[in-house]
Amino acid sequence: MAKIRIFSLANKLGLRSEALIKVLAEMGIEDVTAASAVDPDTASAAVELLVEQAQQARREAQAAAEAQATQEEARVEPAKGQPGVAEEEWEEEFAAPVHDADLEEGLAELERHLAELQAAAEAEHTEIKEIKPLSELAARPSGERPDSAVEVPPVVTVLGHVDHGKTTLLDALRQTDVVSGESGGITQHIGASEVSTDAKTIVFIDTPGHEAFTAMRARGAQVTDIAVLIVAADDGVMPQTVEAINHIKAAGVPMIVAINKIDLPNADIEAAKQDLLQREIVPEEWGGDTIVVPISALQHEGLDELLDMILLVAEVQELWADPDAEFVGVVIESSVDPSEGTLATVLIRNGTLSVGDIVICGTSWGRVRHLRDWRGKSVKTMQPGRPVEVIGLEHVVEAGEIMETVQNTKEARSRAEQAQQDERERQLMGQAEVQLRHLQQQFGSGLVKELNIVLKSDVWGSAQAVEANLRNLSEELDEIDINVVHSSVGDVTESDVLLAAASEAIVMGFRVELSSGARRAAQDEHVEIRSYDVIYEALDDISQAMVGMLDPIYEEQFIGEAEVLQTFAVSRVGTVAGCRVNDGRLVHGVRIEVMRDGEQLFDGELTSLRRFENDVATVEAPQECGVATADFNDWEPGDIINAYQKVEVERSLPKGMTKSAGS
Ligand code: GDP
Repeated sequence: MAKIRIFSLANKLGLRSEALIKVLAEMGIEDVTAASAVDPDTASAAVELLVEQAQQARREAQAAAEAQATQEEARVEPAKGQPGVAEEEWEEEFAAPVHDADLEEGLAELERHLAELQAAAEAEHTEIKEIKPLSELAARPSGERPDSAVEVPPVVTVLGHVDHGKTTLLDALRQTDVVSGESGGITQHIGASEVSTDAKTIVFIDTPGHEAFTAMRARGAQVTDIAVLIVAADDGVMPQTVEAINHIKAAGVPMIVAINKIDLPNADIEAAKQDLLQREIVPEEWGGDTIVVPISALQHEGLDELLDMILLVAEVQELWADPDAEFVGVVIESSVDPSEGTLATVLIRNGTLSVGDIVICGTSWGRVRHLRDWRGKSVKTMQPGRPVEVIGLEHVVEAGEIMETVQNTKEARSRAEQAQQDERERQLMGQAEVQLRHLQQQFGSGLVKELNIVLKSDVWGSAQAVEANLRNLSEELDEIDINVVHSSVGDVTESDVLLAAASEAIVMGFRVELSSGARRAAQDEHVEIRSYDVIYEALDDISQAMVGMLDPIYEEQFIGEAEVLQTFAVSRVGTVAGCRVNDGRLVHGVRIEVMRDGEQLFDGELTSLRRFENDVATVEAPQECGVATADFNDWEPGDIINAYQKVEVERSLPKGMTKSAGS
């Protein structure tokens, strides 16, 4: 497992190395310098101790402050409202901070740093615990298909550039619903709709666009089975089309392209396909594997074919669910209705939901009072694979939250409370997660060897320059993959941050601003955003992170030479060589080679090192000592022993990722 050097640990903590060395000394670890490396367990223990000390200091500071406050209160109280003391003056004095704000702030800062470190030290556990432990529940049931299983409809999300016709397509599809024949009868959207063809049903998520798509994914709830990318035939591939493509690719969801507005006189289907080709999306008719369907959402043209193609792709996916299984659903949206209370649209992943069931959903819970199908019609139960509106939750929940049924209200309440507590803890730890990724790797969990990047730049030129450098680096290093998940020109948006969250990526902004939405999202989703003005800074920073991710290399260094003066036969040990260390030192357990007349006689471990009958760890020149090894006995006076020790060498990156390279 990789170790971390004291100075870099101290650096992360915002401490001086000496402070850390002091704590290590308190733990009984002496003889360390700022350059020494400690293992993750030791680092973690040191951090724990530091946290304790900081908390203690904080408690003491608080107690002192309170004591002072009480004193001042006693002094000031009688003055209030009395003649001679202006009200204003009293307010001022009393409202003023009663204790040393700097100290308070400093401690808070330190504690925050320490929490980060602690979290980092526990990275391994965090990995295993999973930050989004419910994501598996949100997934389709897999594994052995029970007899009671039924086929379920695919879930489709429509993505694409603004004004390319996402909303129009969804409206048009709702009207095509042939089975119900009630088109126009939908009074209220619940956030998802079902479209039935003669053969089958398809569920469409009503909130189009990649923000919603990726927001769900960022929470670990990947509900979309198929993405429909809509491209207007008169406009071609636009910035948000590219974004959508990257979001879909990052999610690993199959994509069908709908080229829309083919009714327009200036529609150019071939040009749109050419655009797609440039984005490495090759239409089937050109030998690729992407289904492209020309449509007019407005004129209801090509919609049947689009639905057929969706069903064709879905067929391969063999989507099923078990009505008899325990109920699991994913929230698509949730809101409050003044007369009905909390509404939540849930996509049922497995099992069946009925009125009267007691459900738990993140920090919320409740008894299901009403259920409504996608048209707003009341139903008593709902089958798996379908969307349903649930009325009865205690409070609104976030999209992507998992809903489950529980036995009784007691269990529901206690699980909701637990979730609330977890949430609070996560928020406390949350700040740490932001900068954690690199640390996590430095602590050598060894689990992550990927650096995912969402890149935003001011101009294409710089985007390409940075990307090219990153690609070079990734190629040169077998151990690490750098993936630019998404690269585009423009400010860092909320959707960029969500994509980063969903892809466990960091956001690199190059001479761009952060939208306020992005800032908020970064905080909520614990995503690291790094901003740069100069290319080399960006490259330098990333290369530093990469170095943290590389496995350490060990190099053998010559540490000393000794000469055999005489030999002794020692029972049970064999032959011991009496030596004098001429240069450097001999260390127990290191590798030695025994040379005679320039020829190597032995190469192996130094298993016994003694001085005056005592086992010792090290013997320095010009002292004398006894040397023995388990595998070599044929010592002769005059033999030379060379000793070598493995030392960890500081890793550096191949050239091409240095300051001079990018600028
Ligand atoms: P969104 O932003 O992607 O949801 O796009 P909208 O569905 O709101 O459509 C944007 C505009 O394009 C609206 O004025 C639509 O009427 C129009 N539009 C959508 N589909 C078509 C189409 O197939 N043909 C034509 N001519 N216009 C369309």
